[in-house]
Amino acid sequence: MTREALVDLDAIRSNLAVLSTATAATPAMVIVKANAYGHGAVPVARAVVEAGAAWLGTADLAEALELRAAGVAAPILAWLHEPDVDFAPAIEGGVDIGVSYPQQLERVAAASGRAFVQLKVDSGLGRNGADATQWLELVEAAAAHQRAGRLVVRGVWSHLANAGPEADAAQIATFTEALEAARAAGLEPELVHLAATAGALRVPASRFGMVRLGIGVYGLSPDDTPVPGLMPAMTLSAPVVAVKHVPANHGVSYGFDYRTTAPTTLALVPVGYADGLPRSASGGAPVAINGRTYRIAGRIAMDQVVVDVGDAPVSVGDRAVLFGDPSTGVPSADEWAAAAGTINYEIVTRIGPRVARRYRG
Ligand SMILES: *Cc1c(COP(=O)(O)O)cnc(C)c1O
Repeated sequence: MTREALVDLDAIRSNLAVLSTATAATPAMVIVKANAYGHGAVPVARAVVEAGAAWLGTADLAEALELRAAGVAAPILAWLHEPDVDFAPAIEGGVDIGVSYPQQLERVAAASGRAFVQLKVDSGLGRNGADATQWLELVEAAAAHQRAGRLVVRGVWSHLANAGPEADAAQIATFTEALEAARAAGLEPELVHLAATAGALRVPASRFGMVRLGIGVYGLSPDDTPVPGLMPAMTLSAPVVAVKHVPANHGVSYGFDYRTTAPTTLALVPVGYADGLPRSASGGAPVAINGRTYRIAGRIAMDQVVVDVGDAPVSVGDRAVLFGDPSTGVPSADEWAAAAGTINYEIVTRIGPRVARRYRG
């Protein structure tokens, strides 16, 4: 029984090329955190490096070190650190460390080896990054450590909130001031970056020297506006494992939220919320079988869903596609997101370890 996420690496390479054209060939850091948004960190990392990604980005150092262990030699930045994380393996492994506050910088400087760091300023998002009260202290301390040969400041960066044109402009201004303060402290960061996919595409002034591309590389739009030329890279499917004919008024799945309206055929598909399907998409989410799209009947269970296929000739072994590239006639991750009241990022990223990843390209 193969629950399968087929990942098209050619689509991923092509998406990176499409995004490069759409961003005036700004160098790209491809974000492969969270198992490359569920697509598989190592195969995706190799594919995007081949396709010209200048950098890779992960949240955790452990994610970066997994790539190193798999032989991925490209530059990597990791930026989200637990308070007691050991920075030495990252320094040893040549992983750049995103640094967000002065005490963190001190821990990096005290770790053995000479770290490459990229200082993160909070330009308004209110998450990671030094705020205005800490930034001067951070850049001055970093400059002192750099002069003493304890570390090298390679980059200055921040992250956008995607809260509209005014907020973007304010964040760009705050970021630019922070960059000037870093230079005034004697730093000469070779990398300056602010934008993720949405900013890279929609706000040219946010591109600076590099853009950090996540969702677009996986073929999905960062917002409600489709991005021309992108191809969704993941197709989630499973074989039909049982088919039964039932009379009208037959309840389907827990609670009987769904009842058949006529004699019909029910097909059982072995993917459920344990595999990352959002249970809140019950009743509305699409599934395609043999080229026709149906809605899931009743509640999504832990391991399975039921599809009412009417009088269509569906057999055990036929493949059910939950989402993939809609230009091939199957449902999209965006439709799943709409059915669940969430975003496409969450749909692909939550696909769990019980689903086998297979690669094409
Ligand atoms: C996840 C992430 C990105 C990528 O965002 P997308 O919207 O997927 O392009 C970029 N930068 C940071 C700091 C992130 O956490």
